[in-house]
Amino acid sequence: MSSRPIGRKGGWGTAEGRNSAHALCLSAVRGSCLTNKPHAERRRREVLVRGVVQGVGFRPFVYRLAQEEGLAGSIGNDTDGVSIEVEGPEERLDAFVARLRAEMPPLARIDAVGVRALTPTGEAGFRIVASETLGRVSTGIPADAATCADCLRELMDPSDRRYRYPFLNCTNCGPRYTITRRIPYDRPQTSMARFTMCPACQAEYDDPTNRRFHAQPNACRVCGPRVWLLSADGSAISTDDPVAACVERLATGEIVAIKGIGGFHLSVDAANEAAVTRLRERKHRYGKPLAVMVRDLDAARGVCTLTAAEEALLQTTARPIVLARKREDSGIAESVAPGIPWLGVFLPYAPLQHLLFASGQVKALVMTSANLSEEPIAIDNGEALARLGQIADAFLMHDREILQRCDDSVAAVVEGAPQLLRRARGFVPLGVELPAALGFDAPPLLAVGGHLKNAFALARGRFVYQSQHLGDLENLAGLEFFKESLDHLMRTFEIEPQAVAHDLHPGYLSTAWASEWARERGLPLIGVQHHHAHVAGCMAEHGLTGPAIGLALDGTGYGTDGHIWGGEVLICRLDGFERFAHLEYVPMPGGDAAVKEPWRMALGALHAAGFDVESEQIVKLLGAQASEVRVLQRMIERGINAPMTSSLGRLFDAVASVVLGRRMVDYEAQAAIELEGIAVDEPDRFEQGDYVPELHEADEGSGSEAVIRTGKMWKAVLEDLWRGVPARRIAARFHTGIAEGFINAAVNARIENGINAVALSGGCMANRRLARLLRTRLEEEGFEVLQHAQVSPGDGGLSYGQAAVAAAMLSKSKLSGEAD
Ligand SMILES: [Zn+2]
Ligand SMILES: [Zn+2]
Repeated sequence: MSSRPIGRKGGWGTAEGRNSAHALCLSAVRGSCLTNKPHAERRRREVLVRGVVQGVGFRPFVYRLAQEEGLAGSIGNDTDGVSIEVEGPEERLDAFVARLRAEMPPLARIDAVGVRALTPTGEAGFRIVASETLGRVSTGIPADAATCADCLRELMDPSDRRYRYPFLNCTNCGPRYTITRRIPYDRPQTSMARFTMCPACQAEYDDPTNRRFHAQPNACRVCGPRVWLLSADGSAISTDDPVAACVERLATGEIVAIKGIGGFHLSVDAANEAAVTRLRERKHRYGKPLAVMVRDLDAARGVCTLTAAEEALLQTTARPIVLARKREDSGIAESVAPGIPWLGVFLPYAPLQHLLFASGQVKALVMTSANLSEEPIAIDNGEALARLGQIADAFLMHDREILQRCDDSVAAVVEGAPQLLRRARGFVPLGVELPAALGFDAPPLLAVGGHLKNAFALARGRFVYQSQHLGDLENLAGLEFFKESLDHLMRTFEIEPQAVAHDLHPGYLSTAWASEWARERGLPLIGVQHHHAHVAGCMAEHGLTGPAIGLALDGTGYGTDGHIWGGEVLICRLDGFERFAHLEYVPMPGGDAAVKEPWRMALGALHAAGFDVESEQIVKLLGAQASEVRVLQRMIERGINAPMTSSLGRLFDAVASVVLGRRMVDYEAQAAIELEGIAVDEPDRFEQGDYVPELHEADEGSGSEAVIRTGKMWKAVLEDLWRGVPARRIAARFHTGIAEGFINAAVNARIENGINAVALSGGCMANRRLARLLRTRLEEEGFEVLQHAQVSPGDGGLSYGQAAVAAAMLSKSKLSGEAD
């Protein structure tokens, strides 16, 4: 109900589906009739179309539509979208406008259509006019789109002139954002500028009836980009068919760095255990799951059990990595996704990738971003050789320059609704709307996002343009990628921010950078509390300005009291919030060290729950030495480097640590993910009993918040453990109990505040079991439940929420200013 179904505008469109309307009909005949009609019937209209209408075959589509309706006039790109003038009989003009929306090309998105009457000029014929490059740019730029069915057919057809040509594309598919320097989107503004089309390609490009009419990256073997193969030291490998030679190497277990659409992938045969292990060792990436690309939907069904919604998601033009249940008989090496029952699977989206699977020598390929641990993905040939020479055995290079780094997007389905977990290729830079209820066009804004999984956002008017996933802002390389992408997006959209929104955390690099940047430019700074931004983002995606009950279930975020928040029940409006309840504070001994060593979190939580953590039984449970426990215990008692946290993510870590016996993790939230994983076949509902954390009301008149206490829950967990209850059962009961604890808080918040909408946000919403339990049970309680769709619920979505909050605050101050 509140979630967005697949196919709604905003980037979830399917590759096929809406294509059939394009076939030329016999309207040329109708068009010729027009000249016989008396001119008195003719009307002329100007039609302005706003949205993603450049680089998606919109002009040729309009050209064909005008032909079919027998209309004269012209169309051109302008900086706001496309501008059309049409002349002909009134009913034909009406039909034309109606068909614009109904039959638009698959990659187009129409945000607004404006129509105005003009005086007929009596002109004949319909023309496409050259692009206008002056003025403010506010049209959307298209996202990169997967190879369409027509192009794929040509790619595999030995009689086609583009047979096995790795860069074929058309107006319905191909790279866009990653090859574009600025808009309007025309070939000279892209990295295709250096390739001059051969006569055959030029003829297609110039022919309004051709699928490649004005397809800016149009190319063929004669005139376009090419591929070649290099060995690890950069020397050329001589071969007639570099793609086939690359596949030979993959089939023998070699690691090949393959240049793609948004960067290089490191690729290896996903069925080859030794090869995958070697990749992990060379990449210094041990536990974190690796994504797997397979040939097509049938192959995906062979490695994962897929629901209909997951199958649809896999086939969207954005081609995200989809997290799905791995099959027992998948044939995928265990080390691809160790210790978890899911696999991140995706389908080829570039012709080059389709060719990798064409011979059938490899069935599934690990395709992981080519970088060392948390560095940005490599895009440049020289950069790749320098950075990946120690990892890859060979390089499959090409000479179509990538102008924007863009990782693969990651998505999952929760109760039938697609949810984006990492927003990058295929979605960026499509705008996400701000609520119309703001009644306000946002001034140009920059929201810098958070710290981990950073993405910034630029806002203007009714739209927020989020950057691609940039990774962690922990080092210079991360900050450089941030600045490079910001420059690019500001230039692309010609947005000069007039205010800067940021997180409240004083230690975030993004906060420090924002303060400095705003100071240099004399711009106002708007600090937005981390969990307010999470919930506001979820509300704004659903067009809601408030109020709503926000469940911000998260890793860590800086609170207004200086503690680390993350298990929050907020009463939210876009322009402000109150904290209604929170998980009880527990110490986090060692601060960030407790994220990497969840046993520390368990110790902190058990201490707070009143257990004697130095007892033999607990020391054993923690898998620790008595001496190290003593050290941490002293840290907690003296309050040294033991910040207090109400984070649900950290509670998950703590419980996972004792239930799974996991002391350390290789990546953030690994223990929590494994805890969700072992429960995967357990039923959702249990007699939860003492697993439900207790809600303790705020003291009357104290102004403090209610607290969700976990002492009894811990007691229940340990009793079950010691009684020998299977870990998977404890994990399932814990999920159910936690969900019920927050639902109780939401019920109380509704009684006190009369609010029925609940927005679910925060990094813990990537836990699909928790998300499912919350959603189904809240709906049973009669709540209206909002969950993210186009924006990540985790920190990757933070900047969208920050932008929504900043816009709301500016709108409010503007309105109150006008009232004065
Ligand atoms: Zn195509
Ligand atoms: Zn050509």
